[in-house]
Amino acid sequence: MNFDRVKEKLEILADAAKYDVSCSSSGSRRKNKNNGLGNSDGMGICHSYTQDGRCVSLLKILLTNVCIFDCAYCVTRRSNDIKRAAFSVQEVVDLTINFYRRNYIEGLFLSSGIFKSPDTTMERLIRVAKKLRLEENFNGYIHLKSIPGASDELMHEAGLYADRLSVNIEIPTKEGLKLLAPEKNHKDFIQPMKAVNNAIQEYKHEKEKSRRIPAYAPAGQSTQMIIGATGESDRDIMYSANFFYKKYNMKRVYYSGYVPVTDDDRLPSLGTQVPMMRENRLYQADWLIRFYGFEVSEIVNENSLNLDMDIDPKLSWALRNMSQFPIDINKAPKELLKRIPGVGLKSVHKIVEGRRHRQLNWQHLQSFGIALNRAKYFISCNSKIHYSNDIDPFKLKQNILLESNSKYSKYFNYQLTLF
Ligand code: SF4
Repeated sequence: MNFDRVKEKLEILADAAKYDVSCSSSGSRRKNKNNGLGNSDGMGICHSYTQDGRCVSLLKILLTNVCIFDCAYCVTRRSNDIKRAAFSVQEVVDLTINFYRRNYIEGLFLSSGIFKSPDTTMERLIRVAKKLRLEENFNGYIHLKSIPGASDELMHEAGLYADRLSVNIEIPTKEGLKLLAPEKNHKDFIQPMKAVNNAIQEYKHEKEKSRRIPAYAPAGQSTQMIIGATGESDRDIMYSANFFYKKYNMKRVYYSGYVPVTDDDRLPSLGTQVPMMRENRLYQADWLIRFYGFEVSEIVNENSLNLDMDIDPKLSWALRNMSQFPIDINKAPKELLKRIPGVGLKSVHKIVEGRRHRQLNWQHLQSFGIALNRAKYFISCNSKIHYSNDIDPFKLKQNILLESNSKYSKYFNYQLTLF
């Protein structure tokens, strides 16, 4: 092996892979300061979660950054004048095994630009996973990025060797995709997702009958959307994500704020800030839908097309629905407790357990770790002190913001303007 050449390829192809956030830890940009420990700005290793919830570190690379497509939002697009490289199948296998033996990684996240055709590329990604599993007896985690437009047969084969598969939808709306990636077709994303979902269901069903049936993509499938590249609203994004969760049983939809990489009239200009806060709010809203029983229409609708940037989506919903409060912490069902701003799932559990033995008061709630600066306006409990929620929601919002210590508070000016 020519080590210098492999090292050079690794630099190019790990750097290109950092724009793919289908692995959880991408996107952080904290550099090492004052000879401190660690550096999240680098590329090459990312983290993901296995089927049983363990966090694993993965070697994150592209097989190649050559691409026949010219998607305007992508550094790898064919018209971009960048250094190109490609790993051979054997090189990726060797790198994975070497890093694994040194204990640097617990698995591989392999993505790729599209060279020649979707099927040729997909077939090569599968060869890497197959070699690792069958020839190297590798039992570490493998996440394969599936190539839009790849055939059903190849998608089926990929799931036999990978733990997780992801087909990145990239642009949340069909219109946006048409504008920025006219060579791509919405169907090319949907068909592989459908094939993977069908196979996952089929294998699950068969496995119930016989233990000998092999595992098929046991960590499920995920997808990624770039946000802020086109003029889509948060409502568009959330309905689109909801569709993928429901229709194709996505384990995760990842939201990735658009990083301006090109000077193109169709895109936000170079130097535009990456919408990190919007990304964060979308993850919070996504969480409310998956774990707190909210419907998309309660969070975003024709009256609220976009999420509030200065407060979290649950608080925003509560302020728009003051008639539902205060909620009696000693009597309310679990589903209502989950709707109180500042009360997380663990706190709901503590409340339900705690109230079996005694009537809960403010001290109890504080000891459960509830964010009372927000929650107190939405709760009644066993106490003489009651915080009024009978004030104008706008003023209530200002009160809460003034009392909260949000790490984002520096971005907002809470002072009321005179006009
Ligand atoms: S097909 Fe994928 S890799 Fe190629 S330009 Fe489009 S987004 Fe980038």
